[in-house]
Amino acid sequence: MRASRFVLALVLGVVLISSSPVATAPTGAQQAALPTPEQFFGFRMGADTKLARWDKMLEYYRLVEKASDRVRVRELGKSTEGNPFVVLEVASAESLTRSDYYRGLQRRLYFQDGAPTDAQRDEIFQSGKAVVVVTCSIHATEVGASQMALELVHRLATDSSPRVKHVLDNVIFLLVPSLNPDGQMMVVDWYNKNLGTEFEASPMPWLYQRYVGHDNNRDMYMFTQVESRITAKLLWHDWFPSVWLDEHQMGSNGARIFVMPATDPINPNVHPLVYRWNGLFGQAQGAALEAAGKDGIIYNSTYTNFWQGAMAWSGWWHNQVGLLTEMASVRVASPTEQQRAQLGRPPAPAAEGGRGGGRGGGTGPLPAPTDVMPRTEYPRPWLGGRWTLRDIVDYELIATMATLEYAADRRETLLRQIYEVNRATVEAGRKGDPSAIVIAPDAQPDPLAANRLVDRLQIAGVKVYRAGAAFKADDKDYPAGTFVVPMAQVFGRYAKDILEKQTYPEVRRSPTSPPEAPYDVTAWSLGMLLGVEVTFVKNSLPEGLALTPVPASPKRAGAVSGSGTFFAFDYTGPEGAIAINRLLKAGASVGVSRPPTGASGAAVVEASGVPLKTMQEVAGTLGLQVRAAARRAAAPARTLKSPRLALYQPWTASMDEGWTRWVLEQHEFPYATLHNADVKAGKLRDRFDVILFADQQAGSIVSGNAAPNTRPEYRGGIGDEGLASLRTFVAAGGTLVMLGNACDLATEHFPLPVKNLKRGLTRDQHFAPGTIVKVEVDTAHPLGAGVAASTYGFYNNSPFFALTEGFSSQQVTVAARYPNAGVVASGWLRGEESMAGRAAVVAIDLKPGRIVLFGLRPQHRAQTQATFPMLFNALYLAASQ
Ligand SMILES: [Zn+2]
Repeated sequence: MRASRFVLALVLGVVLISSSPVATAPTGAQQAALPTPEQFFGFRMGADTKLARWDKMLEYYRLVEKASDRVRVRELGKSTEGNPFVVLEVASAESLTRSDYYRGLQRRLYFQDGAPTDAQRDEIFQSGKAVVVVTCSIHATEVGASQMALELVHRLATDSSPRVKHVLDNVIFLLVPSLNPDGQMMVVDWYNKNLGTEFEASPMPWLYQRYVGHDNNRDMYMFTQVESRITAKLLWHDWFPSVWLDEHQMGSNGARIFVMPATDPINPNVHPLVYRWNGLFGQAQGAALEAAGKDGIIYNSTYTNFWQGAMAWSGWWHNQVGLLTEMASVRVASPTEQQRAQLGRPPAPAAEGGRGGGRGGGTGPLPAPTDVMPRTEYPRPWLGGRWTLRDIVDYELIATMATLEYAADRRETLLRQIYEVNRATVEAGRKGDPSAIVIAPDAQPDPLAANRLVDRLQIAGVKVYRAGAAFKADDKDYPAGTFVVPMAQVFGRYAKDILEKQTYPEVRRSPTSPPEAPYDVTAWSLGMLLGVEVTFVKNSLPEGLALTPVPASPKRAGAVSGSGTFFAFDYTGPEGAIAINRLLKAGASVGVSRPPTGASGAAVVEASGVPLKTMQEVAGTLGLQVRAAARRAAAPARTLKSPRLALYQPWTASMDEGWTRWVLEQHEFPYATLHNADVKAGKLRDRFDVILFADQQAGSIVSGNAAPNTRPEYRGGIGDEGLASLRTFVAAGGTLVMLGNACDLATEHFPLPVKNLKRGLTRDQHFAPGTIVKVEVDTAHPLGAGVAASTYGFYNNSPFFALTEGFSSQQVTVAARYPNAGVVASGWLRGEESMAGRAAVVAIDLKPGRIVLFGLRPQHRAQTQATFPMLFNALYLAASQ
């Protein structure tokens, strides 16, 4: 139908000369015959054990696009593994033909272009569409939404009922049928491989996104993964949808579906109207489900209204109605059976019997549901029985249609009120306190970090400017070139929330009950994570201060000055490590030394034995200031070599391993991957200088997957044999670098003069689900180069250490410790006093081998850029004796 659409566009083009919207073009009449998904795939969506695969889905969507003038498929980019990442634009033919006009109105709804006239404003309300985005199955094992989307699209493309017409005329529906195409195919293939065998419910032994797996919805402020960046572009640079529904699945035992609103605490930077609309849309979904006779619908539970980074929820600070649905899971596509409970009579706690049937368990029936008390937020509890993928598809079809219908019904009110939120946001910023956030790049310990910070803000749609001249704000002087983030902008709430210190509000279910622990991380202060000082300006910036928009992804100019064959540059952050790796690869001889007395505090990297051109390339692409000289600097240098590095990869699909791998690749460290069999096989020292273990419980490293439904080739861990290999490796001079809970493997299985103080503390005594902490770094320590003496790190329930009596052959040094008071910099942590003054990063020289323990998480979710160099230095140290 491309040709006929082209003709239609020509006809409309003539009409468009008048700027008022044209009458709705007739739709439906000219539809070519389109097979239903069932006809196309050969099974009904959600049929037991049947799954459509991404490549076939895409084929179907392209067929729909050909047959219907209501659906357009746009490829937004390629996924990590190179698969097409698409959005479907679904609306009336008229809306799609004039999509640029409607996109323009939507942009004005948010940006308002200064002070619009009444007529311009009314045009948005009267002619604008409710732009709704629905994102499916980012967690690839949560297969339901992507399967559902096929039926939904077929219906919207072919149904000629008044309700569907109402939706198509009033809504522009952006459907991302899979936020994770790579994972979708991995999960389908793994499921089909095991279908009908004893391993049918076996969890996949690798991540369903190459680097981050299930953490792929924890990336919406650092934007490390291409899928996050593509999504951010759609949301905050392209369509600016007012409503964003992200569809997930949860555990199998309780409620059938979670709808909004979520539960306390709320976040102070979200406009209350956004929470109101969360409730309205969520309750519209709930009402539609109740009307269809569905049970087990819950709201105000589990998921809190506080945290950043989780897909649709990150819309809240962008004045978008961000919605979540969570469906009860089946075993991928295999149904579950659950013992039945009686309404209002919770089973005795002892009734935990037939485990299984859950997301990764066995095949027996699940224990009866325990939440069976009817109440306001859960009036008709789920009482157990059979549950299938088709049930998930049915619920999600109803909830998604309800979202679209509600948006259509309330189109004008939604537009008016979102406009008001946007207007009020800008207005509040104009009044000040804060009026702006400023970042002076040259005043930072790592000047390049300020650019990285600005880049992340820009991806999130925040406008950043550069001051054209020096200025004074709140009685402080700032030089020309300072980055300025004015609060008088539509995404000002986001900028404020992402850059300020987080204070997690205390939530108590009753005045006497203890405060509840948060659901997820409680800190995302981007300046701290990147080691950048950001200043909140209270009063207005000086009148007439020239502000120039900063181009996307600002770069710092790098250059080589002076002359000679010895090159030196300050090692102030992660780019320093990339430069070292590039120089080593080019055959340079590279050393690190402390600067001469009286010079700046940074360690200095010295390189020689490479042509000037190579050094210029490295400096230019990374933004480094390199000094060339005829002689080596006087300070003694530690010579670096490229470490022969191995990263342990368990068969438990470790996200931290994936994040670590991503960080290594981004910083150009060559590495090998070691599986259990490789560790057991021994002879590790012949091949490697250093073996890196990402965060993982020690017991899990040793024993791995033990569940009976694990395929034999992925069962078990490194075992006693592997432990013996690691001991031999260290005895032969190898280095082990242990991150987070993997430290316990070393403290338990090697005689080390270090005690993990976290162990033995109860959750009531010490607990931190994700907190930014202050760290004092010994910058003279080999691990401390490239890091500021006082910086920020990320802590997430991992070990902290006290030193104990050791053998005289062991030399223990502390590279970083927590301060004696005021450990918490941002977020929530219980039991701060127990970690005050304690060691965070410890190196134990066992002569000849070495073990480095990172209790602190130096590369957490690839966000903690301020502490990346400590990890890199541990790798260098292993090869620099
Ligand atoms: Zn999920």
